[in-house]
Amino acid sequence: MNHSTNQVYDVVVCGGGPAGIGAAMLAARLGCRTLLLERYGRLGGMAVSGLVQPVLGTVDSPLANAIIARLGGRRPDFERFDLLAADEVTGAGATLLLHCPISGAQVEDGCLRTITVAGKSGPFTCQAKVFVDATGDGDVAFAAGAEYEQGRPGDGLTQPMSIMFRISGVDESRAFRCGSEEEARTCQVAGRTWHEIVTEGQAQGLLPASVGIIRTYLTHRPGERGVNATQVNYVNGTSEADLTRAELEGRRQAFQVLDFLRTHAPGYEDAIISAMPAVIGVRETRRFRGIEQLVREDLITGRRRPDAVVKAACFCIDIHNPDGSGQAEGFAARAKPYDIPYGCLVPRDLDGLLLAGRCISGTHDAHASYRVMAIALATGAAAGTAAAIACRDGVQPRQVDPPAVCQLLDATGSALR
Ligand SMILES: Cc1cc2nc3c(=O)[nH]c(=O)nc-3n(C[C@H](O)[C@H](O)[C@H](O)COP(=O)(O)OP(=O)(O)OC[C@H]3O[C@@H](n4cnc5c(N)ncnc54)[C@H](O)[C@@H]3O)c2cc1C
Repeated sequence: MNHSTNQVYDVVVCGGGPAGIGAAMLAARLGCRTLLLERYGRLGGMAVSGLVQPVLGTVDSPLANAIIARLGGRRPDFERFDLLAADEVTGAGATLLLHCPISGAQVEDGCLRTITVAGKSGPFTCQAKVFVDATGDGDVAFAAGAEYEQGRPGDGLTQPMSIMFRISGVDESRAFRCGSEEEARTCQVAGRTWHEIVTEGQAQGLLPASVGIIRTYLTHRPGERGVNATQVNYVNGTSEADLTRAELEGRRQAFQVLDFLRTHAPGYEDAIISAMPAVIGVRETRRFRGIEQLVREDLITGRRRPDAVVKAACFCIDIHNPDGSGQAEGFAARAKPYDIPYGCLVPRDLDGLLLAGRCISGTHDAHASYRVMAIALATGAAAGTAAAIACRDGVQPRQVDPPAVCQLLDATGSALR
């Protein structure tokens, strides 16, 4: 396909992870001429390219829940997920272009007008009334010069990166599963807790020093587990040199974890690595400053708000230790169902752009909760809906009324179910 050097749309959604899928589906369903751009060959974001699973987090959104169900539920077949997502996006009327990394942005009078795509057939530009940045790292907002923060207060360290991998050949009649640090402390394996066994292996040098928990999730296939254990610290997900180091170190760690499981976990003796991810999992990079910012207190108290566009989001404050193994606080602090206000999706210093997914406006702690896939998808659906209203009314995203977004989300949700 040859592209004209400049393409013009109502809404251009950048990034095809859970947030971008939600945004493109909604903007297109609401009648906008919509383009979804994804840098890789598959939709799904971390779920598909990073083998991240299951779909975690809850929201009070019939619409988001309906989309999750249509994509295969909470524990979907991720080999199929990208195709189901592509059908949903194109079925809603959006144009999809894969293999399209966005490499630049042009801003005029404080408004993002054009982005540049490093296409295989040569660079081309796209114009839109509203862009949605769902790239995870916020590449578009960054290129447009929007203000952002990265890492935790004080030392700026981010959560570690992980190679998530799958193993098969697990004997279901004897094998345990363990989904969290809490479970590891109670899960009994040959008379001891799994946490004790892993900690001992770490101390003996059988495991990397950064691996203090080995989580083994059930997948949709019997005899298979998704393994979340490797941990590469002190790396910046927006540095190519750090990403390269992390990819290699994370993959080496995966084989050490496999060897440990085979020798220390009953039922795992014959396990083999059946799938390695295309890319390492990056939990945390840029968080852009919005008109509003979600903070830890909002999550702990379960703050509800009249300007919410994602209602009753809930997941624990899951901070993988930026500075060592295990959880940063020794455990994942509980959150009460909290609202995400519309202002977290609107960059405070830039027009023509909405944020969706893990790059929205929040602190390091708050991000550790809202970054999970169900919540990311819900922020995308809200951004796609707000973009459609902005196009319809000929206004900037910051002028869109949050209750109008909710009303339209509810109406679309009823139609989807
Ligand atoms: C190791 C790890 C384990 C996790 N475990 C879980 C879990 O068990 N359950 C859960 O729900 N969540 C989990 N998460 C969190 C979750 O996967 C992500 O936070 C979530 O996918 C964020 O969704 P998103 O759409 O914002 O970003 P992403 O899923 O990262 O999607 C962003 C998309 O944008 C594309 N993109 C990026 N840059 C560009 C560019 N310049 N041009 C074009 N396209 C671009 C990417 O290729 C990608 O497809 C985990 C994350 C990691 C890293």
